[in-house]
Amino acid sequence: MESELFMLLRKPQMLSAHRPTAAHISLEAIYHNVHKEIETIDSDTKVFAVVKANAYGYGMLEVAHVCLKAGVQGFCVATLDEALILRNNGIAAPVLVLGIVDARWAALASSLDISLAVGDIEWLKMAEPYLEAEKLKIHLALDTGMGRIGFQSPAEFKNAENYIRLHTKKFDFSGVFTHFATADGLKQTYFDEQCKRWHQFMQVLTLHPKYIHVSNTATSLFHAECNGNMIRLGMGIYGLDPSDGELELPYTLEPALRLTTKLSFVKYLSAGKSISYGATYTAKKDEWIGTLPIGYADGYPRCLQGFHVLIDNQFCEIVGRICMDQFMVRLPHKYDVNTPVVLIGSDGDKKITVQAIAKYAKTAQCEVVTRLGPRVPRIYEESSEFL
Ligand SMILES: *Cc1c(COP(=O)(O)O)cnc(C)c1O
Repeated sequence: MESELFMLLRKPQMLSAHRPTAAHISLEAIYHNVHKEIETIDSDTKVFAVVKANAYGYGMLEVAHVCLKAGVQGFCVATLDEALILRNNGIAAPVLVLGIVDARWAALASSLDISLAVGDIEWLKMAEPYLEAEKLKIHLALDTGMGRIGFQSPAEFKNAENYIRLHTKKFDFSGVFTHFATADGLKQTYFDEQCKRWHQFMQVLTLHPKYIHVSNTATSLFHAECNGNMIRLGMGIYGLDPSDGELELPYTLEPALRLTTKLSFVKYLSAGKSISYGATYTAKKDEWIGTLPIGYADGYPRCLQGFHVLIDNQFCEIVGRICMDQFMVRLPHKYDVNTPVVLIGSDGDKKITVQAIAKYAKTAQCEVVTRLGPRVPRIYEESSEFL
């Protein structure tokens, strides 16, 4: 018994084995989305799957394996630790860390063939003494207007290239890249300015890195004219449309996430009584109220009061404030405890998209999915057709 409990506690997913709340991940949808992207782009353009932040909350290793099956050539992550998780779990494909890693970890990265993003010459100078036998693969980041990391001018970039040329024993110049700030909407002018800036940078380049990449999902879907030879595919993997339906997609994206639970408590509330913290909701007439075992600590945004869930193919309004672990909805009539509830996904002919939640919560779709907490087990649904 004791060792069983120990096992449960060691497996964070199992911490929620006894609550009906779960995120169902369709590996088939992920496969479809990645496969469609690869089919759509030039045959000599490679796709690196962006699996940072636990693959946007969908589960890093499970997603990585499906992406490999679907034909991706490598992975992008945000931190060195995320890259180590991939390597420690037997993934041998190229891995690029998109964020800046402390230069003293350069040898650790090179020993595991992990590529690092570099944004200034100082970083190269700091890393150089740490490197010995194995060359470190680097991708130079160019700041064309995102204003986050990267070389600020073609002159700075040129200096770094010269420095690399003098230190080819230590650095393998494998890539050069930039990131667009407005590829997902109708702000074409800013996008064009970034493109122009990119070309100015590229004019000073004399070495030939293997990977030249500018595209996140939005750039790849909506600005195919400037794809480079590698695509950093993020939200598209998960079936999330970066334009929120504003722009036309070259192929359909299949949402890969369903968030479900079951009613944990049902009661009859008489008119005049209130619900939840702050008593912000008061019943105008007698009504049935259901309680759901999920709350903001699970990543379900607290500001969704007034939004809805799906029960028995009907939208049910969220009434009262969302609590840390539970919240309440108004039911059209009495339902039994354990009646299924859909928070994200479809139920009959109705659906609730991540996009709708993000819009109501005034945030980005990626924030909604990455916030799904460790208390929500990920259940992987596979179809034998593609595995
Ligand atoms: C996160 C990230 C991506 C992936 O972006 P999506 O919009 O999710 O496709 C690509 N490139 C960089 C530099 C990133 O930080």
